[in-house]
Amino acid sequence: MPRSLVLERKGELSLRDIPLDMDMGPTDVRIRVHTVGICGSDVHYYTHGKIGPFVVNEPMVLGHEASGVVIEVGAQVRHLKEGDRVCMEPGIPDPASRAAKLGIYNVDPAVTFWATPPVHGCLTPQVVHPAAYTYKLPDNVSFAEGAMVEPFAIGMQAALRARIQPGDVGMVLGAGPIGMMTALAALAGGCAKVLVADLAQRKLDIIGAYPGIETINIRDIPAADAIAEATEGWGADVVFECSGAAPAVLGLPQLVRPGGTAVLVGMPVDPVPMDIVGLQAKELRLETVFRYANVYDRAIALIGTGKVDLKPLISLSMPFEDSIAAFERAAEGRETDVKMQIEMPS
Ligand SMILES: [Zn+2]
Repeated sequence: MPRSLVLERKGELSLRDIPLDMDMGPTDVRIRVHTVGICGSDVHYYTHGKIGPFVVNEPMVLGHEASGVVIEVGAQVRHLKEGDRVCMEPGIPDPASRAAKLGIYNVDPAVTFWATPPVHGCLTPQVVHPAAYTYKLPDNVSFAEGAMVEPFAIGMQAALRARIQPGDVGMVLGAGPIGMMTALAALAGGCAKVLVADLAQRKLDIIGAYPGIETINIRDIPAADAIAEATEGWGADVVFECSGAAPAVLGLPQLVRPGGTAVLVGMPVDPVPMDIVGLQAKELRLETVFRYANVYDRAIALIGTGKVDLKPLISLSMPFEDSIAAFERAAEGRETDVKMQIEMPS
């Protein structure tokens, strides 16, 4: 039985042996896990025991942002071999489902997703995973960067949903990890510049260090005034709402240019009001994002060519033995901890 990081129940973690399904099918690969990023959702399950309808009712292994090395391949696997360095998509749809056939497998009702109850995650020495959702990393992409592909994929999904045009002015509300990933994906997707708004200056300093990113501290100036100033009163072509904060959602129509686009990425804990007439009066297009589909190859290509550098967002790496301490620190929510990662023993 593998020793894993187990969320026993709300507020209680342990490092212990737990039985996991390790059966290999002909289209699966077995992967020795190398690096796992700690996600806000992992921390939320730890601190709250649930996210929306997903409730931790029995012990669950945490973690879903992983990279590793292939150590065994199923008989029908062609694109991977033993020794390949890889990262994995944590969501596995039913390939025969209607959603999967439409290419929108992220919204397949039958999808199973690592560390979403009751499915175990990947903070464990080995995982068995469908080869189709396992991606080879270029030689110049580290395991740490490989484990960043999963959160970056959400930014990629947001940028794709936005249908950015070259030279667009983008705006991101919320400088959390996903806001940062979205800003970088929007730049890579063709935005001339992206303004990132938050009230935590130290977070803004981190993302503001990237060329093409400008920051707005909404303690100093309202987001609507800042975007008006930056665009001669016209508004941003695309606004990505990544904060999940009710006032940000309500204020969206003031930020977007007439005929522009608002993308809802952040997830408010409770239903929040929207200014429908405000959206209508500018005929804004509204897009929503749930995880991602068909973006891993693109994300890896951008990282591999150096067009997107996620290394500055990896704040801290801790050994698996210290993973409970790592989660306690992550739960503190320090402003300068963008992404913390856990390294598995080799
Ligand atoms: Zn995540």
